Amino acid sequence: MPSDLLLSVRDLRVAFGGVEVVRGVSFDVRPGEVLALVGESGAGKSLTARSVLGMAPEDASVTGGVLLRGEPVTPADWGRSVAFVPQDALSALSPVHRVGTQLTLAVRSVRGLSRREARARAEEALAQVGIPGDRLDAFPHEFSGGMRQRAVIAMATVNEPALIVADEPTTALDPEMRAQILAALAERREATGASLVLVTHDLDAVREHADRTAVMYAGRLVEYGPTDRILTRPGSPYTAALLASVPSDDAPRKSRLPALPGRPPSPGAVPPGCAFAPRCAHATARCGTELPAPRSLDGREVACHLDVLEPV
Ligand code: SF4
Repeated sequence: MPSDLLLSVRDLRVAFGGVEVVRGVSFDVRPGEVLALVGESGAGKSLTARSVLGMAPEDASVTGGVLLRGEPVTPADWGRSVAFVPQDALSALSPVHRVGTQLTLAVRSVRGLSRREARARAEEALAQVGIPGDRLDAFPHEFSGGMRQRAVIAMATVNEPALIVADEPTTALDPEMRAQILAALAERREATGASLVLVTHDLDAVREHADRTAVMYAGRLVEYGPTDRILTRPGSPYTAALLASVPSDDAPRKSRLPALPGRPPSPGAVPPGCAFAPRCAHATARCGTELPAPRSLDGREVACHLDVLEPV
């Protein structure tokens, strides 16, 4: 594993009952980098993100190589070297313990601090995400949705992990709160030098925050490379369709999620060849039989049989 990489994921496959949902995903994350994982619902983004941290469901069969600084990720890394920010803040916070107690425990589980020192660090971590210290003894249900998500970010970053994985961290929030939460996450990430894998549907967030982007479809990466190139000159017809499906800035924000015509295949019914072929305006006979292998094209990797970028 090259020394300039924090995380290396190679040929990650995740299956349930013999049906692969993640079908050979490979990517890298460099120190301090933000990688966005994008694609429609059901593409396997969240499962990929969780599996990278060793958090796939118990009944999942996971194969492939995932190395953090050259070593496998283990539960001992959770909250220490790696941290997870889920979509639903309530699932990350215990409803029966005060927020400050949970943060203090998170600190003490990793650092050899006294209870008093850990509580001071917890208070500092809350302040760093914009929550006043006098809310340390509140219960999660006493926080607004935005404050809960801030508290989860505080929990994820309190021990300054090298890698944060955030799975749709703002989906349940209104647009104003969404921007604030992403800004808080960016601020904490930059202050600690952490890398971030951001699973999202929000292409504005990708544009604003991600250095590189990996586009997933039916459990595979179809495009992977620098965000500015991918968003301004997509190499895959799927990426182009995803971008074209996002309504203009004038459209009501609620309707600004991608909505492509047709539906992705379910994991048990992925067609042979390119899984996007039934929805692709550029599909040829070859696309229906031959799986496109990733190859370099104009500074990014594209899994598509098309030879040039222009047609998409
Ligand atoms: S491989 Fe064929 S079907 Fe798949 S995205 Fe490319 S052109 Fe479309």
